[in-house]
Amino acid sequence: MSSDQDLFEVVNPATEEVIQTVAMAGLAETDAAVARAKAAFASWRKVAPADRARLLRAFAAAVDADREHLAALEVAGAGHTVGNARWEAGNARDVIEYYAAAPERLFGRQIPVAGGLDVTFQEPLGVVGVIVPWNFPMPIAAWGLAPALAAGNTVVLKPAELTPLTALRLAELALRAGIPEGVLQVLPGRGPVVGHRFVTHPDVAKVVFTGSTAVGRAIAAGCAEQVKPVTLELGGKSANIVFADADLAKAAATAPYAVFDNAGQDCCARSRILVEAGVFEEFMALLEPAVRGVRVGDPNDEKTEMGPLISAAHRARVASYVTADTPVAFTGTAPDGPGFWYPPTVLSPLRQDSPAFTEEIFGPVVAVVPFRDEADAVRIANSTDYGLSGSIWTRDVGRALRVARGVEAGNLSVNSHSSVRYSTPFGGFKQSGLGRELGPDALHAFTETKNVFISTEE
Ligand code: NAD
Repeated sequence: MSSDQDLFEVVNPATEEVIQTVAMAGLAETDAAVARAKAAFASWRKVAPADRARLLRAFAAAVDADREHLAALEVAGAGHTVGNARWEAGNARDVIEYYAAAPERLFGRQIPVAGGLDVTFQEPLGVVGVIVPWNFPMPIAAWGLAPALAAGNTVVLKPAELTPLTALRLAELALRAGIPEGVLQVLPGRGPVVGHRFVTHPDVAKVVFTGSTAVGRAIAAGCAEQVKPVTLELGGKSANIVFADADLAKAAATAPYAVFDNAGQDCCARSRILVEAGVFEEFMALLEPAVRGVRVGDPNDEKTEMGPLISAAHRARVASYVTADTPVAFTGTAPDGPGFWYPPTVLSPLRQDSPAFTEEIFGPVVAVVPFRDEADAVRIANSTDYGLSGSIWTRDVGRALRVARGVEAGNLSVNSHSSVRYSTPFGGFKQSGLGRELGPDALHAFTETKNVFISTEE
């Protein structure tokens, strides 16, 4: 039990029932966890690469074996549909397994110099503080912890207040897989207490933060003060650009999934649909039945496509973007009764300077606007402060590439809405973040390069 008795009730967003009460760590517990992580680092960094790889593989296998249980925790604790929650547990497993190959492949270089041998080492940093949001608790935890551990660091991870359950379970599974005590610790707690302490604590060597741009900016400023490296994965307002020559039926059929998946609580949500003017009406006519057909309801039902929002407060924030003056083209359905439901909502026509068009709503609300030509599409896509992801629908490969190069975003997909693969880099331009997670690049964000010169002089 936390010494200051700060308790947090985890609520099932689909039923509004309290499912568990979790003790929030205070400053003393945070400092104690960092001290344990620092002590564990001294031996974890020396574990032979093959043994570290074997332990991470065992961790991935333990996550795999626990997949149904982890998914059930996320359905109950975050309101995710059971299909999504299974994918999320699978993604966490995949990411841990992918980085399990890394300890034996973290190569240095040998550089030709006069008078001796010059070699580089990729040294681990020490204790890494990972701060996770509530929208994808399992994958985002894995994206931070797996490359950090693989590179020889130890991790203290703070889940979001609202969704600590799967992170706590991941820590149990790591221990069960044989990862030594103190190497991975999960510390439920408040952002301004535990998360902020990661920023100021002299023994936390790096901070990995995923969350809102406002908090990310404050964390970056705090880390700058300490000259502490930081990776930031922040908000988004991504464009789904549909050209007249595209497979319109497919673009319209998939557009709801691209924004309403996880009830729109997705940093990569394509929450602005840009449609070439000549096919705007045709596209809207195809989009309407697709949106009305989204199955919203019980997250435990295998057929459900969209669950509730995370909390009443978040639903109120989403709803604040759709006032009596907001032009709603059409909506889908949402259940009555308990649960933080909000229907899929399509806004059009909408002024391009309105908050609903420029700000991240993080709910099932999408704006659809027409564009004139390629240059206009790129201009509109780039007209926000964000730059995380986006989609381009066209059969013209040259145009697809020109637009992909023109859009200021870190993750673009052509004739698809895929943003995340564990083996490819993920991250944002502009106010969407700093640095990259996943893929081969992420590993180097958890090491420092050390150069050693050995004289061969007699
Ligand atoms: P948030 O910024 O409110 O919180 C994120 C995490 O930061 C939580 O664990 C919270 O406790 C902690 N935190 C809050 N204040 C803090 C402080 N002062 N110091 C340190 N830590 C603090 O974000 P949220 O509402 O949990 O998540 C939604 C946001 O996350 C959205 O903006 C979304 O776009 C973004 N997100 C981005 C990505 C990405 O990869 N780019 C992925 C998922 C979510």
